[in-house]
Amino acid sequence: MNRLSDIGTIKEILGRHGFTFSKSLGQNFLINPSVCPRMAELSGAKNGVGVVEIGPGIGVLTNELCKLADKVVAVELDKRLLPVLDETLAEYDNIKVINADVMELDLNALIADEFEGMDVVVCANLPYYITSPIIMKLLEDKLPIKAITVMVQKEAAQRICAEVGSRMSGAVTVSVNYYAKPSMLFSVSAGSFMPAPKVDSAVIRLDILSKPPVQTNEKKFFAVIKAAFSQRRKVISNSLSSGLSLSKEKTLEILKSANVPSNARAEKLSLDDFANIANNL
Ligand code: SAM
Repeated sequence: MNRLSDIGTIKEILGRHGFTFSKSLGQNFLINPSVCPRMAELSGAKNGVGVVEIGPGIGVLTNELCKLADKVVAVELDKRLLPVLDETLAEYDNIKVINADVMELDLNALIADEFEGMDVVVCANLPYYITSPIIMKLLEDKLPIKAITVMVQKEAAQRICAEVGSRMSGAVTVSVNYYAKPSMLFSVSAGSFMPAPKVDSAVIRLDILSKPPVQTNEKKFFAVIKAAFSQRRKVISNSLSSGLSLSKEKTLEILKSANVPSNARAEKLSLDDFANIANNL
């Protein structure tokens, strides 16, 4: 068992370092000992693999990743955690902690510099205030990685893992499915964290596709998705014409060429439908 997920140990370490939780940095640390070993294992961390972790906190997941992977690079924004991590990760020589905002980092350069010759995966318990921006950055940067395994709020997990074309489908569902195959791994109760958040969480894995499932102009494709879901209750002809500033007549023409019914709603459309619309813009 990882002693770091013991609540007494965490309180003792944090107390000694005079650490107080920052709500604005999404600091909810894992205190359930069964979660990190499972998450690390399912992330694909193993011999020959390098791992990028985002937000190591006090290093509870990092510990498990260091046991399995060849090398772990953990990006932590809060510099108050650096001396804590020095202590909790002291037994490993395959860890590098970088003090930075992950949204500002050139992750392609980081991977090229740190993981030569290794397969690379991302594994993280994400700060909830920027879950989607981080996931979209990891995907849009087209990193040379195999998979992204992340803990997110359960509702966000359900949205990301929904079937494209189903009622739960949203802009993030379609966007993620352009880059990866998402799957729900397991749920984690709110009581597994300190401090406990208001909602439950879930661990999901995004297996990166070797090529996109549809051929399209990416800029137009993502503009169509954004416009279509910005007013998801409206029929597609209305949301597209207002979101893309197109005349009603032009929008109907595009939808006809794309073979998409003008009275369909965004959540019912497939990846092919979005690509066909973009390709007819
Ligand atoms: N991995 C730890 C765990 O599971 O107990 C902590 C997870 S906590 C939900 C999120 C962590 O992300 C915190 O340590 C927080 O300081 C860090 N963080 C927040 N925003 C960040 C950012 N923009 N870049 C890097 N780390 C960030």
